[in-house]
Amino acid sequence: MVTSQTGAETKNPFDRYTQSYGGRWQGKLVWDRLNYTRALNILSHPFYAGVYTFGRHKSYKSINAQGEIVVQTRRQAMNEWPVFIKDHHLSYITYEVFELNRQRCLLNKSNKSSVPVAGPAREGATLLQGILYCNQCGRRLTIRYAGKDGSIPTYECNWRKREGLTGKSCFSFRADVADPVVEKAVISVLTPAHLDIAVSALEQVEKRNSALNRQWEMNVQRHQYQADLAQRRFEQVDPANRLVAASLEKSWNSELEKLSEAKREYELQLRQQQKSLSASKKQEIKALADRIPELWSATTNFKDKKRIIRLLVSDITVAKIGDKLLLLKLRWQTGQVQEFQVSLPLNIADQLRYPKAIVEQVRELTKLYGDDRITADKFNQQHIISATGKPFTEEMIQWIRFKHHIPLPLIKFEHELTVSEVATRFSISTHMVYYYVAANVLTSRKTRKCILIRVNPQDDAAFRQALDNAPKAAPRISKKEPDYV
Ligand SMILES: [Zn+2]
Repeated sequence: MVTSQTGAETKNPFDRYTQSYGGRWQGKLVWDRLNYTRALNILSHPFYAGVYTFGRHKSYKSINAQGEIVVQTRRQAMNEWPVFIKDHHLSYITYEVFELNRQRCLLNKSNKSSVPVAGPAREGATLLQGILYCNQCGRRLTIRYAGKDGSIPTYECNWRKREGLTGKSCFSFRADVADPVVEKAVISVLTPAHLDIAVSALEQVEKRNSALNRQWEMNVQRHQYQADLAQRRFEQVDPANRLVAASLEKSWNSELEKLSEAKREYELQLRQQQKSLSASKKQEIKALADRIPELWSATTNFKDKKRIIRLLVSDITVAKIGDKLLLLKLRWQTGQVQEFQVSLPLNIADQLRYPKAIVEQVRELTKLYGDDRITADKFNQQHIISATGKPFTEEMIQWIRFKHHIPLPLIKFEHELTVSEVATRFSISTHMVYYYVAANVLTSRKTRKCILIRVNPQDDAAFRQALDNAPKAAPRISKKEPDYV
């Protein structure tokens, strides 16, 4: 927080003790411990910037459900205060510093606010805390420290989970995946070329401001001249001529009012203008621009890095596309939007056990043979082993297929039909087909996906005959597996 400069002889309000008035200590001077509320009051009260105010709070009366009159005090917006006199007394800080402090307090607000703000830059090792937003629920992402000893900072949107609307968070990803991308983008806009443009734009603004200031000065001079003229006229009039004197006094008053209004407007204009940079400062900025990447990587002060990022970046909306891709929509303070795609790393187990080449080979072999045992054998024949040094087994292949959504193909030999195809062909129900398979009336083969029944076309009539002669009531089905081909 910025403090101080004028009123050096007065006591600094941020010392260990502060002054307190009111209550039972009314009229006495008491020094007390500086606490949160008192510090906030000092920062938000313009009194310390030499401003006299009246009407910061207003009382409102209303009638409650019990018919009683209730008086409530509400804080008023600054522009609604009826009395606001600047430079009224000696100040601890200048008015500009007070305004800076007020703006920073507004941006650091961490409780509920109608306008979402990034919150204060904190000490944590993540750079984008407070400016990342979820594209699914529109909430701010929070930080979670994952890993065994909580050493891996992770961004997570857990609002819906916290509210009990769903069982899991919208998404989460490691901070070291997104941070370097934004860091790089920020450093790239701080290049000497970009700063040159900014400094030359600032020079243009300065030129325009000085031209405007001249106009305002001339306006004040004109009003000063008019006021002086009215004063001279009034002073020259014969006091006996009371009516003329009264009229001239009125005109003098009116000119003085116009002069004071012109001065006030000029002051307002000056306050709204940017402070101009000296030539040496501009040179310093340009020299620093060359060293930005070096300085950026050298500094370990994450608070400063976050503040720099916030000066340039308004917010970043994050969307997760599929399992392994992040889309960052970065909105610069200028309003421009830039998109970045970031690939998320595979989790460590998948990286270790099943590299992409192995997964692709499993996909090919499955398409070819449709049997996990054969696939595993093929790997073992080529002496390919898993990352843990073990030979491949049927279960390992099955797991790879499950993880990477590789379905088993249905490999049918000639004249083989599925259960439903047999049911349609012989106009019987699928239950009856299973029943005949179990009773060994039909020759079948069991694959991992389904049962296949062999029906030769020349045997069609014989099959129909066999089905007609087969027992219609449920026979005792032997526990023995059907004969497979
Ligand atoms: Zn969300």
